[in-house]
Amino acid sequence: MKEIILIKNGELALKGLNRSTFEDILVKNIRKRLKSLGEFEYTKAQSTISVIPLSDDIDMDEAANRVGHVFGIAGYSRALQVDKDMDEILVNAPKYLDSYLENIKTFKVEAKRSDKNFPYISPEISAMTGKAILTKFPHLKVDVKNPELIVTIEVRDKYAFIRGNQLKGAGGLPVGTSGKATVLISGGIDSPVASYMMSKRGLTLNAVHFASPPYTSPQSEDKVHRLLQKVAVYSGNITLFTVGFTEIQEAIRDNCPEDMFTLIMRRFMMRIASKIAFKEDSKALITGESLGQVASQTLAAIACTDSVAKMPVFRPLIGNDKDEIVNLSRQIGTFNISIEPYEDCCTVFTPKHPKTKPDIDMIEEAEKVLDIEGLITRAIDNTKVKTISFQEN
Ligand code: ATP
Ligand code: MG
Repeated sequence: MKEIILIKNGELALKGLNRSTFEDILVKNIRKRLKSLGEFEYTKAQSTISVIPLSDDIDMDEAANRVGHVFGIAGYSRALQVDKDMDEILVNAPKYLDSYLENIKTFKVEAKRSDKNFPYISPEISAMTGKAILTKFPHLKVDVKNPELIVTIEVRDKYAFIRGNQLKGAGGLPVGTSGKATVLISGGIDSPVASYMMSKRGLTLNAVHFASPPYTSPQSEDKVHRLLQKVAVYSGNITLFTVGFTEIQEAIRDNCPEDMFTLIMRRFMMRIASKIAFKEDSKALITGESLGQVASQTLAAIACTDSVAKMPVFRPLIGNDKDEIVNLSRQIGTFNISIEPYEDCCTVFTPKHPKTKPDIDMIEEAEKVLDIEGLITRAIDNTKVKTISFQEN
């Protein structure tokens, strides 16, 4: 007798021909996430993946918690695997689910029998289990229409399984099924949320962060590491490129009109991120921009930054209000880190009156005084690479 986890695929159930590749990637992702907890066996049948611990000392609370963060899972439940014996089912169903049964008023039992040789048919299994539960918890009532708890008994070929309500999974597509993209990550609220959202659509993430020491501190880089550790709970490992941006920012400050600082700087970010992405076989960029949120995120400003990106730029928050973004950031555990007060390179040398309706020709003209290629090459040479792994709460 042991506890296992049963996983229902999410959208991959719809993927027809690709389904088995998708399932393989999902299993690989779950495997990676659970590896440090001990050894598990994985089996697939009827769009359900069973995760079976191979030793008794595995922390199944933590295993279930981690499964809940893996994209590509619609729902999952913990289940008790027992011998295919009616007495075993009747003794264990009330015992296994007691912490739920104690605290509710209504339940029903659903039985499924794929082994047609089992001596009882499904309605008999349901009725007998229901009675066993009512005997132990006489305060309960059976409600077949709207029960608080559905107790499911499944009799399969080797074992029977007892489980309670299914929990909601993280949804989305398994990470790695949509390719790879590079997120421009700041220490702010938005870009970690944007990372989470695109990873949910099946993208493996790389990240690029621009740091301008001594104007920005080591703490602000550490903050970015901690933000990405939270994102990695969902996305899996993230390769972070921290680019030295000081020379570029100083060159802009010394040579370009002040009202264009931010836009010229953001165009450098896009160019450098495109180059790093290209080398890493990453096919898109991701930013945390939201239309109209600040001067550099007006339609005209976005057109200026977009025009130097060498690949599609995904802005999953473009239509979100700040409070919606904040809610998501609380949900994924990044908010409290994001609001720590460290300087970002965007906040040093900010113009007092940034252009809100910039013109691409004007910006290009203003950039001409800079040695764009030289600055970019030196910044990329001055890049640190680090792999960020997930850090559970
Ligand atoms: P965030 O909360 O993500 O910092 P923001 O509202 O502060 O966003 P901006 O500072 O204008 O917005 O930045 C817009 C986007 O540019 C960010 O969402 C992020 O994708 C990218 N970005 C900003 N600063 C950096 C940085 N230092 N390194 C990498 N990317 C950055
Ligand atoms: Mg920012």
